[in-house]
Formats: sequence, C-alpha cells, structure tokens
Amino acid sequence: MYDPKSRKAEEFISHEEILDTLAYAEANKDNLELVDSILEKAKLRKGLDHREASVLLACENEERIQIMYSLAEQIKKDFYGNRIVMFAPLYLSNYCINGCTYCPYHGQNKHIKRKKLTQEEIRNEVIALQDMGHKRLALEAGEHPTMNPIEYILESIQTIYSIKHKNGAIRRVNVNIAATTVENYRKLKDAGIGTYILFQETYHKESYEKLHPTGPKHDYAYHTEAMDRAMEGGIDDVGLGVLFGLELYKYEFAGLLMHAEHLEAVFGVGPHTISVPRLKKADDIDPTQFDNGISDETFAKICALIRICVPYTGMIISTRESQAVREKVIRLGVSQISGASRTSVGGYSEEERPTDTEQFDVSDQRTLDEVVRWLMEMDYIPSFCTACYREGRTGDRFMTLCKTGQIQNCCHPNALMTLKEFLMDYASEKTRAIGEKLIEAELNNIPKDIVREICKDHLAKIEQGIRDFRF
Ligand code: SAM
Repeated sequence: MYDPKSRKAEEFISHEEILDTLAYAEANKDNLELVDSILEKAKLRKGLDHREASVLLACENEERIQIMYSLAEQIKKDFYGNRIVMFAPLYLSNYCINGCTYCPYHGQNKHIKRKKLTQEEIRNEVIALQDMGHKRLALEAGEHPTMNPIEYILESIQTIYSIKHKNGAIRRVNVNIAATTVENYRKLKDAGIGTYILFQETYHKESYEKLHPTGPKHDYAYHTEAMDRAMEGGIDDVGLGVLFGLELYKYEFAGLLMHAEHLEAVFGVGPHTISVPRLKKADDIDPTQFDNGISDETFAKICALIRICVPYTGMIISTRESQAVREKVIRLGVSQISGASRTSVGGYSEEERPTDTEQFDVSDQRTLDEVVRWLMEMDYIPSFCTACYREGRTGDRFMTLCKTGQIQNCCHPNALMTLKEFLMDYASEKTRAIGEKLIEAELNNIPKDIVREICKDHLAKIEQGIRDFRF
C-alpha cells in the first residue's frame, strides 16, 4: 500500500504506485490538454508531484518539451540566480565489503589497489585542495566496519576542519558514506557536517537486490530508510540521488520524487540536494554491460524536470559528465558542480592523476581555475560560499528563505565576496581579469542599496588581504 507518510521503504516507495504512475504517464503522454494543465501548474513554481512529473517525462511533443526547458531555465534563474556553488570530492578509503556490481570498490575486485588515507595523508590532500581554492568538500568512502568505522570518518572530519593553510580553510564538509544508524548520524551532525548524501542507486527493489548481492548494502529497506534515520539523528540537510544507467529511468525518476515527497510529508522539509550521476567506465566495470544507459537528451530532460518539480532543491552534477553536457544542464537547473575532481584515494597530492585507486573515469579533467573561468565566461558566478550552513540556515529554515525568494539577498553578495577571495588567492591572471569585471557588473544586481554598500566595503577589505569574514 502506498503511503508517503509511512516510515517503511516499501510503502513510501511503493512498487505498485510507481507502476501505476508509469502506466498513467504512458496513457496520457499524448493528452496535450493534461500536459498543458500540468505545465500551467508548474509555472506557479510550487513543484509537481510524481504523477504529474511522470506525465511530463513521458510526453514526446517537441513543442511541450521546449516549454519544459524554458520553464526550468526560468525557475533556475529566479531561485538560484546565476550562482553555481563549487565543491570537490575527497576519497578517504576504497576498502569496501559490499558487492555493488557497478562499483570498482566492490569487495570481490581483487586487482584494484586498496588504500586508506592516514590523518597525515588527509592533511596533504586538504592542503592541495585548499591551494586550488576549494572551501567545500564531499567526503567519500567505501563501507568497511573495521577499516572505515565511524570513528575514522569523525576523526577525518576533525582533521579537515582544523587545517588552516595560507588563506585556505575547508568551511563545509558534506559526507557520502554508507547508510548507518541514528546514533552515528547524530555523531556526524555533532562533528559539524553539512549535507549527508546517499545515493539510492536504484529504487527498484528487485534490481537493487541483484545489483547489491552481498554486504550490508544488500538490505533495500535499511538503505532506503537511511535519510529518515539521518533526519532523526538531527541532520537537517540530506542529498538524494540515483545512479542513472542501472534501471529504467522513468521508474527511477518517479521513485526519486516519491522519496522527496516522503521527506517533506514526514519531516516538513524535502531533500537539500539531488545528484544525477550516470554510470561510468571504471576498473572492472564496463557500463555497456548494464542495459539502461540514457542519452544526453534524456539526461537533460530529467535535469530540467527535477528543476521544475522540486524548485527549492539544489541539483548537483559531478565531473562524471563532460564539459559539453555540464554546460547544457547547468542552464537547465544545476546549482552545484564539482571541479578538478580526483576520484582516487590520495589523488590530489600527486602530480599526475593516479588511476589505480580511482572510482570512475572523470570526463571533465580541467583545473579549478579553468572551470571557474569557463563559468564566468558564460556569465555564471562561481560561488565558494558556505554561509547558509554556518549561519544555521539549514533544513526548513533554508527552505523558508528559498521559498520566499529572500535567499537572493544574502547569496548574491556572498557569492561575489567568496569569488573575490578565490580571485585574489588562487586564480591565474587571465581568470582574475575576467572575474574582476564580472564582480563589478554583478554588484549592480544587488537589490538593496545598503547590502550593496556593505558588499563593496567587504570586497575592498578582501583586496587588502583581510580574510576574516564568515561566508
Ligand atoms: N560507499 C558509499 C555508499 O555505499 O553509498 C558511497 C560512496 S561511493 C564512493 C559514491 C557513489 O558513487 C555511489 O553511491 C555510486 O552511486 C557512485 N558510483 C559507483 N560506481 C560508479 C560508476 N562506475 N560510475 C559512476 N558512479 C559510480
């Protein structure tokens, strides 16, 4: 039985409800009257439910698809302006006891080199990341009770926050580790993490169990109910995602939205972010062995629809995607991107990109300076801001600000100031020249005179080398 308020995975992600939804969407995909009425509702910018969203995903009418794209672009502009938040993943350990058939870290892979960073090695990685200009990290680790216990993750977070190198500091640590207990989520919260991220991989229970044949991750309910436990443990911001390519994308899309609806129904706040990873080639993994890969076109449509259906949820795209694909989906709704990522354990402190411990092939291999410049050339403001989280604007407090449009008043100036820090401390001359011009022009887009004046004052101080602001 489908019940978005239930705490049982099989009830809030009901297989029957998804099948009914897909049948309803298929039956109505050419019902342009219905499609138009859903599009009208979407224009109110309050989101759509999984049934309405699935009809739009099934609709193949080119004119209507273009309306979806324009609407996504508009919602993106209205809620997120032209800011793009920057982050980098940090791989702590690739020891893993799970058997995920799509992941090279799976326990049965005997030829991948296993590595776990010591606290000293973490320091080196963090210094390398700070020297690029990063302020926000996503911690990644395989699941291993003795090699990567929660104590190791907590100690690593403490190490990361403690490192102040030149003008650098990591100001927000998000965490992407395996599903765990309420008690451990509480410990992560106390350690000061930002978002807890966990990809569902697939919402299809039967496929899930086949794709995760061994290890604790095999338990579909434990994995799917993880965000409930995280929120119970006090974590306000959770990040959802599915790994596109494992199952039928229409099924995953409906499941993803149902998961967001469930969190909203139970906790009064939906996911902080949604990630849209696609399966990539990796050691021991050939993506063509999986039947459900999606085209760039379908991928773009999914991104646009996520933007329309959950307008207040940030959307994340990683370096799994190429520059060209990133360019397209940033316009359609992505609000956070990684830059200069290394998906190997210890990869940042090495000169050459090591591949022997890598999780997947990175398509976008540009430096952070290049990524920042590229964004600015397209008139986006790369933002290194972490203020929301540091000022307690998380969970429902963040959502309220976002829903009332007020978030723009603080995000825009903060983005400009953190960009200024980046330009002064880390950028190449060419990037800095473009950035200074952009900041000058963007100052005019700060609506309140008083805020604009404060921002100018702070920018001048950053120019003089003062770095004691709390962004
Ligand atoms: N071990 C944690 C867990 O089980 O949730 C999360 C860390 S894992 C390093 C992060 C994510 O990488 C996984 O959730 C999965 O979606 C993704 N991933 C694994 N193999 C991949 C591949 N071959 N291509 C792209 N992404 C992959």
